Amino acid sequence: MDAGKVKFFPRREMLDLVVADGQARGIVARNMVTGALETYQGHAVVLATGGYGNTWYLSTMAKASNATAVWRAYKRGACFGNPCFAQIHPTCIPQSGAYQSKLTLMSESLRNDGRIWVPKKKGDTRPPQDIPENERDYYLERLYPSFGNLVPRDVASRRAKEMCDNGYGVGPTKLAVYLDFGDAIKRNGRHWIEEKYGNLFDMYHEITNEDPYRLPMRIYPAIHYTMGGLWVDYNLMSNVPGLYVIGEANFSDHGANRLGASALMQGLADGYFILPYTIGDYLATETFQSLKETDEPFQRTTKDVTERIGRLLSVRGKTPADDFHRELGKVMWDNVGMGRNKKGLEAALKEIPKIRNAFWKDVKVVGTADSLNSELERAGRVADFLELSELIARDALHRQESCGGHFRVESQTEEGEAKRDDRNFTYVAAWEYAGDGKVPKLHKEPLKFDYVKPSQRSYK
Ligand SMILES: Cc1cc2nc3c(=O)[nH]c(=O)nc-3n(C[C@H](O)[C@H](O)[C@H](O)COP(=O)(O)OP(=O)(O)OC[C@H]3O[C@@H](n4cnc5c(N)ncnc54)[C@H](O)[C@@H]3O)c2cc1C
Repeated sequence: MDAGKVKFFPRREMLDLVVADGQARGIVARNMVTGALETYQGHAVVLATGGYGNTWYLSTMAKASNATAVWRAYKRGACFGNPCFAQIHPTCIPQSGAYQSKLTLMSESLRNDGRIWVPKKKGDTRPPQDIPENERDYYLERLYPSFGNLVPRDVASRRAKEMCDNGYGVGPTKLAVYLDFGDAIKRNGRHWIEEKYGNLFDMYHEITNEDPYRLPMRIYPAIHYTMGGLWVDYNLMSNVPGLYVIGEANFSDHGANRLGASALMQGLADGYFILPYTIGDYLATETFQSLKETDEPFQRTTKDVTERIGRLLSVRGKTPADDFHRELGKVMWDNVGMGRNKKGLEAALKEIPKIRNAFWKDVKVVGTADSLNSELERAGRVADFLELSELIARDALHRQESCGGHFRVESQTEEGEAKRDDRNFTYVAAWEYAGDGKVPKLHKEPLKFDYVKPSQRSYK
């Protein structure tokens, strides 16, 4: 940007992919200030539009994060890889009310020194400072003596949910566990904690009005990162020639789980080390028809986008898009969240189309298309979440094994740990759009391991 080599178009939202002669050749974007639809033509398209965690409504992601770009590309032929692999982070500030619009992540690093516990007695309403040491269950230290509070995110999240589901949750909603720095403060002093985590403690204090130096923090898991995304090859190109997808928007690198700081790794690897070389190869070796933005593929795609916007505005219903999103989020969290089973997933697959139908009958979008209109932006994104969510649930239903962030309740060991089924599921599930109302086609890309063999994880 500084060198003036990149032209920046701020406040544009990509609303569709232009495919011409089988190649990705541009995008249609809405100017979010004027409302005008604009087309951009090129020899290739790179999507770097982030993850789809906001499908669950509440997540740690920015409110503006959305799935529109990847979803519209999917509907133009790009396969969606492993949509059910989503990461749930254990260290978030619990939800406090029904009208909350997002969740706050407390850094992973807090688990280095904080100890996680719940009262040993079910439904204990005593304040934490009144619960003596021998009446506290440091359940991660008990269950995983060698890893303790540092077990991976999926395990820590699932165990916290299990404690709350079994009646040991704390705080007003009972959907929280304690993260306690009492011992660390005793051992190293308040100053040491302040130096390491002061900003996080301040943030927690600001949000909850509780002093974490005196009382344990309350934490609960939240959707944080999506490992699934558009399928790409090793050159980061999707199955649509010329459509590249990088960062969280693609499915690559992480498989079913993700480690802390690895998004940074993916961002660097994709954007710095891989794409600059692979896209150059594509541009140098491919042949391209000459194309102008007035040509048919751009006109046709712009017409599709115009019609879709018109459809959103013409419903003139009574219910804001956010209400549908909240409803969808509840279905997703309850049935396609931390523990997934056949019954719940089938229920989600019935519920999601109902919410989607209700949305298209009753969504209220005020304002017009030709001006700044955040309600219109929101409605378009929610409409896409209402479609993508069904694919996520379908993928989760078909994968009858537990694997990283995807925990199928039916597939667990006697000790409640995730049980893999490598014989039947060692593949990437790449879903191909087959048309509205039609079951998408599943392609299985086998995973081959030459050196490191997948094995059952153990943190005991
Ligand atoms: C609270 C929090 C803490 C995190 N901490 C860590 C950490 O410590 N270490 C780590 O490695 N990772 C961390 N992550 C994850 C990491 O930040 C993300 O995975 C990473 O930023 C993804 O980068 P990206 O460039 O792929 O996408 P993003 O950073 O999400 O960027 C996508 C961009 O595309 C824009 N966009 C989306 N759709 C459209 C559209 N249709 N048209 C135009 N623009 C669009 C978005 O507005 C956004 O600007 C954290 C994430 C969160 C939410």
